[in-house]
Amino acid sequence: MMISDFIKKEDCRSCRFCCVFRRKSLWEVPKHQKYIKDKYPTGFDGVPVRYKEFDTPSGSWIITDLSDKYTTDDPEEEAPCPFLDPDRGCALPDEDKPFECKAWPLRYMRMEDNSLKVTLTPTCPAPGLKDTAALKKKSSQSWEKAFEEYAAQNPYIINEYREGYIIL
Ligand code: SF4
Repeated sequence: MMISDFIKKEDCRSCRFCCVFRRKSLWEVPKHQKYIKDKYPTGFDGVPVRYKEFDTPSGSWIITDLSDKYTTDDPEEEAPCPFLDPDRGCALPDEDKPFECKAWPLRYMRMEDNSLKVTLTPTCPAPGLKDTAALKKKSSQSWEKAFEEYAAQNPYIINEYREGYIIL
């Protein structure tokens, strides 16, 4: 069972909500493997991409640095991912797309009791996600396995639980 069973490709094509980041939601910017920095020095439009590197006990990763893309102090101002082609969608091939983008709108979160849960981002506007009971019943186990396996090698994809995220 895949999340694509619940979200139609057309919904994503006309939306791209998850590839545009409000200043106050920069924690959502996807984490890439480090090799991406050398492979993609520029975005889809040829403009150089700035990256930020992280080396922590949870692993090493990079994110695209969008900080110079905002022109106001408004926390709601949005900036697109440098790989978002407005005409074609994500310009990265599947093998280079971050796991977090493939898993969106699902997240892997650490709860207060330290357990790990698959959660649904409450702001994803895809109509097929409204029935969270069906999501939970049909697919939570397969998603749990996918997250568990990926997080075993890349624990940095685990986020602390945030209020409002729907636990599956
Ligand atoms: S890497 Fe691709 S899917 Fe992920 S946020 Fe950027 S454009 Fe969207």
